[in-house]
Amino acid sequence: MSQQVEMIVNAQWVVTVDEQARVLKDHAIIVDQAKILAIEPIGQHDFTTDNLVERPNHIILPGLINAHTHAAMSLFRGLADDLPLMSWLNDHIWPAEGKWVNENFVHDGTQLAMAEMIRGGTTCFNDMYFFPNVAARVANEAHMRASFAFPILDFPSAWAQNADEYIHKGLQLHDDFRSHDLININFGPHAPYTVSDEPLKRVNTISVETQMGIHIHLHETAHEVDEAQQQNGQRPIERMNDMGLLTPQFQAVHMTQLTDEDIELLAQTGTHVVHCPESNLKLASGFCPIAKLVNQGVNVALGTDGAASNNDLDMFGEMRTAALLAKGVAEDPAAIPAEQALQMATINGAKALGIDDVTGSLAVGKSADFIAVDTQSPETSPFYNPVSQLVYSTTADKVSDTWVAGKALMTNRQLLTLNCDSIMQRSKEWHQKIAAADQQN
Ligand SMILES: [Zn+2]
Repeated sequence: MSQQVEMIVNAQWVVTVDEQARVLKDHAIIVDQAKILAIEPIGQHDFTTDNLVERPNHIILPGLINAHTHAAMSLFRGLADDLPLMSWLNDHIWPAEGKWVNENFVHDGTQLAMAEMIRGGTTCFNDMYFFPNVAARVANEAHMRASFAFPILDFPSAWAQNADEYIHKGLQLHDDFRSHDLININFGPHAPYTVSDEPLKRVNTISVETQMGIHIHLHETAHEVDEAQQQNGQRPIERMNDMGLLTPQFQAVHMTQLTDEDIELLAQTGTHVVHCPESNLKLASGFCPIAKLVNQGVNVALGTDGAASNNDLDMFGEMRTAALLAKGVAEDPAAIPAEQALQMATINGAKALGIDDVTGSLAVGKSADFIAVDTQSPETSPFYNPVSQLVYSTTADKVSDTWVAGKALMTNRQLLTLNCDSIMQRSKEWHQKIAAADQQN
């Protein structure tokens, strides 16, 4: 007696990124009630469905997890390039944010970012930006998985006036989404140089009680570390450690300035590192020594950062850059082999965000968050090894399908939960306004 299920996807290859790192030929993924019910050889199981998806020239893999971005900043893509971090922020990004960021900006910018991410095989993103209430709403409408690290700053923005108000509004949002299947809310103190001790200590106290994550830009540049040492005689990581912040709930983004002692501290405390290689390269911020971190047992996830400093949200590109850069930094071609790079873009992101029991790999019982990649093109031929193919030669436009919790968000490159024409039109309108004002300055 065969069992009727919601969907079966037959694929040439299934790359599981599970604990055994299984790469399976001619397998079917059986999906029911938003979850993976089984992964079986094609034709050798007893499941039937009215929704059979045939992908005979494709690799199915877990949806990619962008562990650090500022989605709405996609509307600033290309506004200011080729500058160091502090002048990029002080002279361009912060003034533009002061002028333009409001609920509509976040609504339209987040939709633009999600359209790009879904088309590039990203099924989950971790966002740090103003009006996370609006971003969470549009993510929910698009049926995308997301974590929102609500911003906390000492200074006012369009969203809140002071650290207390940021925290208050963020905790309200956490309550609103407490039992949501796809959306999580965490703390997003912006950086050590924009948030003082008092709010950081409060964040830590609540995080200990609630197990909410803490997501922060840390040791992004040598300038940040030098200035902190001059001001209070401590490296930022030491300051975080003194306040008890370094725990498995803590996600340190960038980490380009690390001593061997810092790496040991990260490993001992179970702190996660989110590596954003393209943003670090573009702003010449420095190099995160990810091969050393991985060798010490630190969990390293991958993020694009915002499209204003990358300038895309392409996790295939990011994965390739991470693997290549790691080899150059470690002066070792064996550093971060393809399999590890793929883990960084999938299961390691889920671990950093505290959702690895739900997503990040293809395993029975996990959410059906996965993508299909077309392998039939001159750029990806011939075909020796699926994992090598995914990391070193696949581009985002080869993603044909994207599913989150068993629901198709893209089929054969057609977006199904977002209106691409309308998103492009609104992006054009924002560009006209922002560019006109920029020329007046
Ligand atoms: Zn960032």
